[in-house]
Amino acid sequence: MTAMKLALVTGANRGIGFEVCRQLLKKGFQVILTARTLEKAQQAVQQLGSEKVTPVGLEVTSSESVEQLRQWLEATYGGLDVLINNAGIYPDEGQSILRVPVDTFREAMNVNAFAALELSQALFPLLENRRGQVINVSSEMGAWEDLHPSTSAYRLSKLALNGITLMLSRAGRGRVAVNSVCPGWVRTDMGGQDAPGTVEEGAEGIVWLAEQVRGTGQFYQHRQILPW
Ligand code: NDP
Repeated sequence: MTAMKLALVTGANRGIGFEVCRQLLKKGFQVILTARTLEKAQQAVQQLGSEKVTPVGLEVTSSESVEQLRQWLEATYGGLDVLINNAGIYPDEGQSILRVPVDTFREAMNVNAFAALELSQALFPLLENRRGQVINVSSEMGAWEDLHPSTSAYRLSKLALNGITLMLSRAGRGRVAVNSVCPGWVRTDMGGQDAPGTVEEGAEGIVWLAEQVRGTGQFYQHRQILPW
């Protein structure tokens, strides 16, 4: 009998992250559902009604919060199979790069890129123990060829996240796979109600990747490899 795989999802109290947790549980994973506060995580876990999911508070931009999580994970499980960096913000819809305050760029980079990097750095040894993988939830808006001058803080942060994916995949040296996934434009608080896709469809491509290692250093959308 193979041991249950353990997956950790950030920003999972709502939207795609929550749906990813729901689908992972259906696939037989053990899940750590993290949210900015423990209360938010607990509320989300209640909705899932499964004993295989554990709520944890994780503010992804706080080094202290990341370190607390790392210590708890190490002591409790000693390893991790899948880290899903999903938490994200979308702070500058439609605005031109000429008008977005640089502080908005800093905020987007902190949450969407540097926080994913810091958590990956912290949990890499635990992932190495299990030959695990990192999945960075990115966006095709951060592909090099799609760098239009609007929504520029968001785009730049996802471009940076994709760069982090590539560099971490090389650092993984066959022991940890690291990929980016774009969920497609789907209906969540961030995606809005005009999005063509459902949150289930957005989560599906992420869970498909989590089920088994499928290469490293790639950018996926709907199970297909996207150009960067
Ligand atoms: P939502 O806005 O619905 O949810 C975002 C989640 O991230 C929330 O749980 C939020 O927590 C959490 N979060 C934000 N900042 C932090 C933080 N500092 N620490 C911890 N958690 C945080 O977004 P989606 O579900 O739509 O998006 C999820 C991911 O998918 C994002 O990375 C996004 O960029 C990406 N994506 C989404 C698309 C879409 O169409 N929806 C398209 C392409 C990519 P809280 O509730 O506390 O704010």
